[in-house]
Amino acid sequence: MALEDVFEKFPKVELISRPTPIERLSRLEAALGDQLGNVRLFAKRDDVAGLGGGGNKLRKLEFLVGEALRSGCDTIIALGGRQSNFARLTAATAARLGLSCELVLTQAVPRCDSGYQENGNILLDRLFGAHIHDLGKASSAHEFANARAAELRSQGRKAFVASSGGSSPLGSLGYAACAFEIQKQSHSLHTQFDHIVLANGSSGTHAGLAAGFAAMGESPGHIRSYSVLADEEQSRAATLEIARATLELLDGTFSLQNTDIDVRGDERGDGYGIPTAAMVEAVRLMASSEGLLLDPVYSGKAFAGLLRAIRLGEFCSGASILFLMTGGVPGLFAYRDAFDVRGGDK
Ligand SMILES: *Cc1c(COP(=O)(O)O)cnc(C)c1O
Repeated sequence: MALEDVFEKFPKVELISRPTPIERLSRLEAALGDQLGNVRLFAKRDDVAGLGGGGNKLRKLEFLVGEALRSGCDTIIALGGRQSNFARLTAATAARLGLSCELVLTQAVPRCDSGYQENGNILLDRLFGAHIHDLGKASSAHEFANARAAELRSQGRKAFVASSGGSSPLGSLGYAACAFEIQKQSHSLHTQFDHIVLANGSSGTHAGLAAGFAAMGESPGHIRSYSVLADEEQSRAATLEIARATLELLDGTFSLQNTDIDVRGDERGDGYGIPTAAMVEAVRLMASSEGLLLDPVYSGKAFAGLLRAIRLGEFCSGASILFLMTGGVPGLFAYRDAFDVRGGDK
């Protein structure tokens, strides 16, 4: 039995075509010039595959919705912020599978301009036909979702409640499987990735990758994430906890230590969803040198961290670095002012 057959015991729906491409960022390398320090940069394009505009939440939804269907659910309730990529991709997945979708959205970011409130992800949520519950600043989203699920049950229906970001151990299996995918691509490209860099929000993506490498008997210490939500310590603790629970679903023989989880907290700026100058520079550089889109909330801040680390010479000469592009492009349309140097077209 191949190691990765372990995933087959979990019900799953197919939402992306895989493997997602790995591309060398040659023009960006050239743009960095002497600052590059002779490292090699690659992007794994989890931003492009599949439906709904794509993004990392699809790999989680494959397992979450697989379980929802197995248990006979007809409705998915997803929690998130107003511009949640997870909510958007849950809505798209439900549309594809003929399920009802209800989104319980809270105001996680202090922005009230119309772009933030009505453009980007929320526009797409509506196109996908999701029913939106706008809770404003209310912190009781979980209670609301559970109460709504109970109400649906009393009507003879059955809802699956997916927490913010889909970062349960089951959802994180999506990125454990992705670790196997990266390993295979690494062989076929004859490139050992010395570092894997990504954004960390609800932590399931980093946790899943860590669990996947551990299940292959490798230390996941080469994965570095930049927290955009919690502070460094909280984020590391959450990542380790989810990674351990995910690994337990896969295999009881391996374990994970605190030192296996590298989370950095220094790109978050003033808080979740609040732009930083380094994020704006990173989004611009990637767009103008490669024609690729980062997002303002997650991957833009993580890529800013990677650029800073490269410029500080933190990586050995000759090292290959894989940046995980996690999607979130609709968020750009909710942050027009952060990128608008001219203050509007005349
Ligand atoms: C959710 C998200 C992340 C972070 O993934 P987590 O598993 O929540 O840590 C990164 N990038 C984008 C675009 C996202 O939507």
